[in-house]
Amino acid sequence: MHRILEDERIAAHEPGLGRERIKRAAEEVIGRARLSGDEREYDAIVAAVRNRLDDLRIESLVPVINATGVILHTNLGRAPLSPDAATAVVAAGGWYSNLEYDLSTGERGSRNAAIGEALRAATGAEDALVVNNCAAAVLLVLDTLAKGREVIVARNALVEIGGGFRVPDVLERSGAKLVEVGTTNRVYIEDFERALSPRTALILRTHASNYSIEGFTHEPSARDLAALGQRAGVPVVEDLGSGALCDLAEYGAAHERTVQEAIGDGMTLVTFSGDKLLGGPQAGIVAGRAYLVARLRTNPLLRALRVGKLTIAALAATLRCYRDRSLRERLPVYRMLAATLPDLRKRAKAYVSEVRGALASESDAYLGGGALPRARIPSIAVAIRTESPQDLTASLRMGHPPIIARIESGRVLLDLRTIAPEEDQLVISTLIEKAVFSIDPS
Ligand SMILES: *Cc1c(COP(=O)(O)O)cnc(C)c1O
Repeated sequence: MHRILEDERIAAHEPGLGRERIKRAAEEVIGRARLSGDEREYDAIVAAVRNRLDDLRIESLVPVINATGVILHTNLGRAPLSPDAATAVVAAGGWYSNLEYDLSTGERGSRNAAIGEALRAATGAEDALVVNNCAAAVLLVLDTLAKGREVIVARNALVEIGGGFRVPDVLERSGAKLVEVGTTNRVYIEDFERALSPRTALILRTHASNYSIEGFTHEPSARDLAALGQRAGVPVVEDLGSGALCDLAEYGAAHERTVQEAIGDGMTLVTFSGDKLLGGPQAGIVAGRAYLVARLRTNPLLRALRVGKLTIAALAATLRCYRDRSLRERLPVYRMLAATLPDLRKRAKAYVSEVRGALASESDAYLGGGALPRARIPSIAVAIRTESPQDLTASLRMGHPPIIARIESGRVLLDLRTIAPEEDQLVISTLIEKAVFSIDPS
């Protein structure tokens, strides 16, 4: 084994794959071979290990266990799909479907018709359409309604969401001219009113998402803005980002503005993501007044932003879970939110009794995905004290499947809120294997 790992043909893979994964691949190959010490056989084994390593390099997406406590972790793929949505993806992707085929007439149909109907029912909006992500939804709205014209935005809404999505930059790329009003902390309805001109295309409101301003602040209500837009004949668009369809306060979290509330407040259009609090696939949804959604539908850009059948299938199955309160926890995001502290403590007990040196510890989980950035969700973690927390987290990351944990106060923490109960046994056995040698007895 040592000779294989040191062999330069194998060691060359180390920077990309890490020693741990290479060792595993070599063990798999050697486990299958019967060794006789023949030199030709050695070369064959090296070749087989190299093949396995090549496979690993192109295996780009691997399932991971999220022990970070961040429910909508953008780096880990945001919302996991419900079993219903995952099944729908397999069904739609595995064979033919009526994606653009009208079964009643036998003629070409619309790929957006059925999902539009489901979105109308779920949001209460007059009409809705789906694109690739929320950034695309904002771009489509601005390109359709504001190209070469002015968009009024409060200075406290000129945010960067992350991943390079900056409101002023998206505005600029869409060919709209940004008109900033108010100050960083205070903006009044009169500021918007004064900025209105014949060149105004729309007023844009954005969800602050990943920051909050506290103290001496003021902002007009959405209703006041809607009323102003109505008087001036200017659409008021709100980029909600997370797009909750239900009240998070039901789960003991703070209230996050819902899509229905924004529509109810009179927003002309709202945009939101499919894979944040909605709990579905990556998608961007525009919902609101039918006459404007109809204009978006005629924009040729829509062809480049449209979603595939896998997304439509997953989104439709996700929306079905909102039809009835009893179905909602089929969505993993809401199941994680609904887990009680006694539930989590009970699961922690199993870890503590099986993994030497593990303790149950209070922890803070987060929603992530730009929703309620400062709202801590009380949670329970399994804490492991070890000489080198960095080594343990690295070794967990390199495991099969990788486990993503965090380090806090010198301990490795695995938050149970984002680990599925079905994953507990696998995590426990991995910890027994990895952690038992690294316990600091103090
Ligand atoms: C997350 C977010 C976006 C971007 O959404 P994607 O679906 O990742 O494109 C846009 N606006 C706001 C307010 C957000 O929170």
